[in-house]
Amino acid sequence: MGANLDLFDRAQRVIPGGVNSPVRAFGSVGGTPYFVDRAQGPYLWDAEGRRYIDYVQSYGPGILGHAHPAVLEAVTRAASAGTSYGAPTEAEVVLAEMVVDRIAGLESVRFVSSGTEATMSAIRLARGATGRPGIVKFAGCYHGHADALLAAGGSGVANQGLSGCDGVTDGAVADTIVAPYNVVPTLDETVAAVIVEPVAANMGLVAPADGFLEGLRAACDTAGALLIFDEVITGFRLARGGAAERFGVTPDLWCFGKVIGGGLPVGAFGGRWGVMEHLAPLGGVYQGGTLSGNPLAMAAGRTTLKLLDDGAFDRLTATATRLADGLAGAFASAGLASTLPRVGSLLGLYFGDGPVIPPTDFDEAKVLADNGRYPKVFHALLERGVALAPGAYEALFPSLAHDDAVVDETIEIAADAASAVASLA
Ligand SMILES: *Cc1c(COP(=O)(O)O)cnc(C)c1O
Repeated sequence: MGANLDLFDRAQRVIPGGVNSPVRAFGSVGGTPYFVDRAQGPYLWDAEGRRYIDYVQSYGPGILGHAHPAVLEAVTRAASAGTSYGAPTEAEVVLAEMVVDRIAGLESVRFVSSGTEATMSAIRLARGATGRPGIVKFAGCYHGHADALLAAGGSGVANQGLSGCDGVTDGAVADTIVAPYNVVPTLDETVAAVIVEPVAANMGLVAPADGFLEGLRAACDTAGALLIFDEVITGFRLARGGAAERFGVTPDLWCFGKVIGGGLPVGAFGGRWGVMEHLAPLGGVYQGGTLSGNPLAMAAGRTTLKLLDDGAFDRLTATATRLADGLAGAFASAGLASTLPRVGSLLGLYFGDGPVIPPTDFDEAKVLADNGRYPKVFHALLERGVALAPGAYEALFPSLAHDDAVVDETIEIAADAASAVASLA
């Protein structure tokens, strides 16, 4: 038995499904996972010493590529001064200042330890600030695994083929309304907040239709509801100021995660003072965390944001464009019909019967994600040393470490993988 299978066997004896997050188990693509031994830049190596060009990048945090020397240095320096205190530090203030400086309209921010905590806390805050119970979310948007937000989720929930989730009571989702993405819903005065991924990156990649985000802003203003942008993926990735800057729409609350932690467990939520002042200790909405503002995580986040200058976003976009065009060409040459919707450096990948039209909502995304084609291409790529996410609902995450040579190697491998898949069909 190989080292990967051996580890998976051991893992399954002591960890449910052998993994600590369901999509990692390869359930929706078949087969068994590789276990990572180490990673560097665009590459990772599995337990058997096999190298992969990695487009998972931890599902987004690896925007600089793996093990960036500046991040390692910052984390090492922070660790040598102690790993957690339960008291405030300058590092938290510095990262908060950086976030406030980058995000126009965000005046105050609180750090948590995951994206899930960020969205869960933002929802509680919105309810506390408005005194209303209702939440509107969009089908196919994933906001982490808090009970109230698990209804019709993308990403891991979709990959598992779950419409909802056992253990989430009717009561927990009684105030959650699920609406179709890209349609502005009608809101009434029971709605505390509308939460949205401004670019939906957990059902492949679905771009906001013209006027959708502006329409949400106007509908929330009319109804007195708060608009929450879940920028856990788009934040500090689509622009210095994330999706809000890119689309010119300002929400009342933002949620961050992934990039902001530079690979360590961090999330954050923030907004204008009029809303944030409802949080304890200033107001009556409780929220806290033993490891919130962790000094190692703050050091990684601060170093990562510092390296993301304007040039970085242009480079990321150029890389994603080269990758999207190259992959589309490689698949087309082999006769595989695909579409690779792209927004900035975010990339989706769907296969279908040509010509494939980029989806605009969850129903359309599901037709393309569940037709059984992605797993074949996924495995053909993986065998040849390119790692995409093991699920058709995930985006691709090219990083600053994916230079043109790495992208071109990916495209060559994809051409070979695509003809192998086509010859089996
Ligand atoms: C990943 C993700 C989350 C959840 O973040 P975790 O750190 O996994 O808890 C929330 N919202 C979006 C948009 C995400 O992509």
